This record gives sequence, structure tokens and C-alpha cells, in this order.
Amino acid sequence: MIRTTPARLAVAALVCIALLTAACGKEGSPPTKGPAAGKLPHYQVAEGFELPSSPTWERARKRGYLNIGVKEDQPYLGEKDPASGTYSGFDIEIARMMSASLGFDPSTIRFKTIASANRETALQNGQIDFYVGTYTINDNRKKLVGFAGPYYMAGQSLLVRKNEKDIHGPQDLAGKRVCSAAGSTPYQRIQTDYPRATLVAYDTYSVCVDNLLTYQVDAVTTDDAILIGYAAKVPDELKVVGRPFSKEPYGIGVPRDDNALRFALDDALEAREKNGDWKRAYEATLGLSGVPAPTPPAIDRYPAS
Ligand code: GLU
Repeated sequence: MIRTTPARLAVAALVCIALLTAACGKEGSPPTKGPAAGKLPHYQVAEGFELPSSPTWERARKRGYLNIGVKEDQPYLGEKDPASGTYSGFDIEIARMMSASLGFDPSTIRFKTIASANRETALQNGQIDFYVGTYTINDNRKKLVGFAGPYYMAGQSLLVRKNEKDIHGPQDLAGKRVCSAAGSTPYQRIQTDYPRATLVAYDTYSVCVDNLLTYQVDAVTTDDAILIGYAAKVPDELKVVGRPFSKEPYGIGVPRDDNALRFALDDALEAREKNGDWKRAYEATLGLSGVPAPTPPAIDRYPAS
């Protein structure tokens, strides 16, 4: 059930603005808008790149640019600056390096914000060419879309208020109000493995976080990579607790039948991991939250469907 009403959103926005302003004014507080543009890597655009066997790539070539689906409210991963409309974060950098590898100047990308529950439809109806936004690869989703990668390994975790004493892990969620995004794997895992929790779903995790700050829910659950970003923005108010209790390998979602695009993206990821671009991108974005660059997971080049 999605319970995003305009009134709730307005309250959430006010709380968020108040907190962000407070955090911005504090000395030593983490940057609220992600990396400075000058610190981001520059990706060499492949010259004369051709991928005629990919209908998605061919359509993009005729159009002249890529449409890429992303998130816009996930700090250090995919975040849109409301003033400039600029997107930044690790997922955005992955999208930019993939664009360069496919022969499209990253400055021409049209980013489209797509919520977790709408990713498969957006890929199926051609609204986007591919999707880079904390998108877990799994067998259920593979029935609907294809996945290049993985390019990062996250794990489900819990975000609570700083003064929370009772919640240390998913075993403590019975009778608690737990918020997650509709259509996400963390939402599904709570539903099946921790049925005594009271689940609340919104379109986005940022609305869940606003609800946590206003005592309307007791915890927010999703990937640790996402939660660490929210906690880093208001470290006096929020904390991530417990150990990750799942594996969430992040893939690049592609239209299911476009194996040529999927394999080209696998090649591109491998090359960008090898030449240091992946690590530079991580350090300029997700790395700002304080976690050093991990070794990227092995690419799973599964057979054409
Ligand atoms: N990685 C999880 C998923 O793909 C949670 C994050 C998200 O909703 O994007 O469902």
C-alpha cells in the first residue's frame, strides 16, 4: 500500500528543509549535495563505437543521446540538486561512464527519476534505455528485465533515530512500524521473513526518513549504502544499526531481450574497473560517506535468454 498524500509530503518537505539547513550550518557536517563537479572523473568517450545488434543502442544513436533511469533522493548514490537540476552520486557516475563507453558524451544524458516500483515498466515501455539506481539483481526481476553487472554489493540494514534503544536488528521489529519503498527487495524481505513488523510503504526512502524523524515510523529499512547516506546528512538524529542481513548486488537494468546491450555494458564495467575509473568514481561519491572503496563484485555474464 502506498500512502503518500499531499499533506504528508508537505510536512515531510518542511522537516527535511529544516534539518538540511541545520546540518548545512554545522562545522564539519558532510556535504549535503555530494561531490564538487571539479572533483569528478572525466570519462573518455569511445570513438566510432557501434552496436547495431542492440535495438536500444540504435534508437539512442538516431536520437543522439541516452535516456537513463536513476534515483534523485539517495545521498552519495543518485541525488538531484533541486536548484540546478544536476544529478550526482555513484550511480550517476556509473551511468556517465557507461554512456562514454557506448559512444555518447555523458553531458548529453537525459536522466529520468524512476521510483523502485516503476523500474521494470519503464524498461519495458522504452521510457529509458537503461537504469542505474541501487537496483538489485534477482531471478524474479530477470523474468522481466536484463541486468549487466553487478557493479556494487550492498546489504539490507536498518536506520533508526539516534535515541532508539530497542532496535538492534531485524529480530527486534515485531510490533514496530517499519518503512520501506514499494516494489523493493527490502520491503519484500520484511514481509516474508519478519511478518510481525508493521510495514509502511512509500514511493521513496526519503519520505520514509521524514516519517522516521517525525516519529511516525520506528525504522527505515533498505540497503546499507542508501541508509549510510541519510544518516551522514543528519548524524545527530539518525543511526544505522546492526549488520547487513541480505546481499543486494547492484546491476544495470536493461530491456530483457537486448542481450547485445547487456553484454556491451558488462564489457564496459569490466574495462572501467580495470582502468581505475570505477574506483575514482567511488571515491568522489559513495566514498565521501567514509567507507573505503571495496573490490567490485565479479561480473555475472549470464547466457542470452
Ligand atoms: N536494492 C534494493 C532494490 O533493488 C533496494 C533499493 C531500491 O529500492 O532501489 O529493491
